[in-house]
Amino acid sequence: MAILNDNPLDNPITAKISIIGAGNVGSMAALNLLVQGMGHITLVDVLQGLAQGKACDLEDACGVLGIENRVQGTGDINKIGSSDVIVITAGVARKPGMSREDLLNINSRIIFELSSKIKELAPGAIVIVVTNPLDVMTYLALKTTAFNTRRVFGMGLTLDAARFRGQISKELHLHNKEVEATVIGSHGEGMMPLPRLTVTRGAPLDRMADANKVAELVKRTKERGAEIVNHLGSGSAYFAPALAISELVKAIVTDSKALMGVSAYVSGMYGINEVCIGVPCIIGKRGIEKMVEFELNEAEKTALQQSAESLRKMYKLLPVF
Ligand code: NAD
Repeated sequence: MAILNDNPLDNPITAKISIIGAGNVGSMAALNLLVQGMGHITLVDVLQGLAQGKACDLEDACGVLGIENRVQGTGDINKIGSSDVIVITAGVARKPGMSREDLLNINSRIIFELSSKIKELAPGAIVIVVTNPLDVMTYLALKTTAFNTRRVFGMGLTLDAARFRGQISKELHLHNKEVEATVIGSHGEGMMPLPRLTVTRGAPLDRMADANKVAELVKRTKERGAEIVNHLGSGSAYFAPALAISELVKAIVTDSKALMGVSAYVSGMYGINEVCIGVPCIIGKRGIEKMVEFELNEAEKTALQQSAESLRKMYKLLPVF
């Protein structure tokens, strides 16, 4: 494909990347991107001084490594203006006693407010949503910005696939690179690790391990997020989520056309209509360059459709529609 010289994304160093939410996930993603030399980063947080403080620390991190500092921290959302890529990690995590509906209520108001700002200030941006509940927040950001469906997607499956890969490689004593793990579906209870489409040393996982072992690996993958939360006591995972974000951003700014699972607006594929759900996509400088339709068997297709239906039910709970 021809590379357009006037597109700032052609040069990774000049891409403007804004990360909204300078908490654990957002600031760690900023560090990863800085270390990898991916663009100029604007870190924004509503909490007074947080983004500025994290940016100072990141500047010092650049000093340690002897690399150019390309990060600024701010409490002013207007600074996201003209961004090429925007990552939304702003929101609250579920706390003890908080229902899923409470979480949906709080985070959807935040995502609605931020998406309206993005529409106004950065109409050309590619938006990566990270805030949970991921697939519903992605749908909300897409509908609020009214951007092209290729330019708004969610990060969830990249992490889930990494978790599946990690569990398999540990169990089968393989290098991570020898495992190509496939996960589709929603980021959460509807997650669908697919052993049939997961390749270990060139062979499908369900031929490399017996059915009980495979079921155990799938279960461990689905419960991995909760396992981490239980260990931590407060907060949730951020090292792997932040790396998954930086891999997605890297695929965009380097136009790598990497095959990655993201929460994308699906309409027509897999018998699903008008739902944001995790599916494999080719990611490049235009965002989702292509959605890839895997051949699912009937059981897998039905499970995916059910997962899509439960997401659609949650749209009705969104307070902003
Ligand atoms: P965190 O609490 O450390 O950070 C969230 C930050 O968002 C806070 O600093 C808060 O001040 C900020 N914020 C809230 N409202 C804002 C607004 N209107 N504008 C700007 N900033 C705002 O949480 P975290 O651990 O970084 O997680 C962030 C989100 O990412 C959560 O919703 C979490 O559930 C989600 N998450 C998703 C995945 C995934 O795979 N999709 C993985 C991990 C975490």
